Amino acid sequence: MSHPDVIVVGGGIGGLGAAYSLTRQGLRVRLLERAPAFGEVGAGIQLAPNCTRILDEYGLLDEAKSLGVVPDAMVMRDAVDGGELTRLDLRDLERRYGYPYLVIHRSDLHGLLLRACERAGVELITDARVDAYENTGGGARVTLASGATHEAGLVIAADGLHSAARRLLADDEPVSSAYVAYRGTVPAESPRVASVDLGEVAVYVGPGCHFVHYGLRGGKLLNQVAVFESPKALAGQEDWGTPDELDAAFAQTCDFVRDGLPFMWRDKWWRMFDRDPITTWVADRIALLGDSAHPPLQYIAQGAIMAIEDGWVLGEHVARNRAADGTIDWPAALAAYQAVRPEHCRRVLTTSRKWGELWHLDGLAREQRNALLRARDTYDYSFTDWLYGPTALTPDQEPDMFTPIPLSSAVVDEAVLTGGA
Ligand code: FAD
Repeated sequence: MSHPDVIVVGGGIGGLGAAYSLTRQGLRVRLLERAPAFGEVGAGIQLAPNCTRILDEYGLLDEAKSLGVVPDAMVMRDAVDGGELTRLDLRDLERRYGYPYLVIHRSDLHGLLLRACERAGVELITDARVDAYENTGGGARVTLASGATHEAGLVIAADGLHSAARRLLADDEPVSSAYVAYRGTVPAESPRVASVDLGEVAVYVGPGCHFVHYGLRGGKLLNQVAVFESPKALAGQEDWGTPDELDAAFAQTCDFVRDGLPFMWRDKWWRMFDRDPITTWVADRIALLGDSAHPPLQYIAQGAIMAIEDGWVLGEHVARNRAADGTIDWPAALAAYQAVRPEHCRRVLTTSRKWGELWHLDGLAREQRNALLRARDTYDYSFTDWLYGPTALTPDQEPDMFTPIPLSSAVVDEAVLTGGA
């Protein structure tokens, strides 16, 4: 087998997005996935304009829209009394940022990227678990569990939250939030679906819990996500987030939220971990991308989007650092990637944590939050511009990204009004 230009480890949304982006730039890309088949577990995913802009450039937006739903509004309500707190007019938001806010089934987004990679000629290999990474001087090599080795000018590690490659750059572990997510879908014929506006992405925020719903597949499914803080996790028990905790966590929420709980899948749940931000993602010719570099809590719904942005930014810098004979100046391309992405993603990670705290407030703090949110102008975009505006290509395009934001003011100042599940 001849060497490809790039090896991508991991066939999740991040790995596929990067493989497609680099193949579009004329590179030969080999993608190694440890699973026996490509796929995504879970239900819906929200894609804000900073992602649909990229899908459009890739020529994939129309297909994504046909598979998903373009909602009219995002509405935040109080989970206890059900009252509306604030909203985004997603039609106006689309006019402002030039691209739609889209919700789509995860497997549909994953399948869309997989098909794009197949058409573009990415070499897609399953049953290929990478156990070791090493730089070779002028390139990098991975070794599979089978003992086989693969070499390329660049290795991109898009191997997720538990990334093995991250150990080359950071001696850290995933950070437990003690929160757990339950997901589930409701078929269109259920009376539950008739009781909601499928044109809305709705998030109900409550003490130590929240509940999200939105339509999927042209309104054929209602996606629901229920997230709560696990008392067993707080008590340090191993077996946390189990279904017995679900109903208790939502006991004080309004009828509408509690009526949604029987539709959640009870045989699987997702414990919520992130990692502390790291500022170096590149070790010579090995680069982190997606959750391996910046796994967030999902509260501002940007994890998969950041992964897709990473791939796009890298592709842009490959194009800018390629000589007429096709040779790529990898150190320059990777230095540009490194200069642009970590600071933006650091801000997303820290904002996501703060946004979760804001959602889950109780008592007086909850009332103060509600008063602030009710007073917000629907058409005030000052908190979304940094996130939904054009993807950074150079640090100069995001000058405020380097200004540390005091955490005390971050709860409201950094809050983007999104309903991440
Ligand atoms: P992963 O999806 O983890 O993919 C990693 C891949 O690498 C996997 O296929 C894995 O099998 C493979 N792999 C791992 N190790 C190896 C190895 N050693 N060798 C070979 N292959 C390997 N994001 C949004 O943008 N919008 C949302 O609305 C949103 N909602 C969310 C809701 C929930 C409840 C959760 C939990 C997350 C949500 N996210 C959302 C975040 C998003 O799902 C992730 O950030 C994103 O899927 C990360 O993609 P990735 O490709 O980087 O990693």
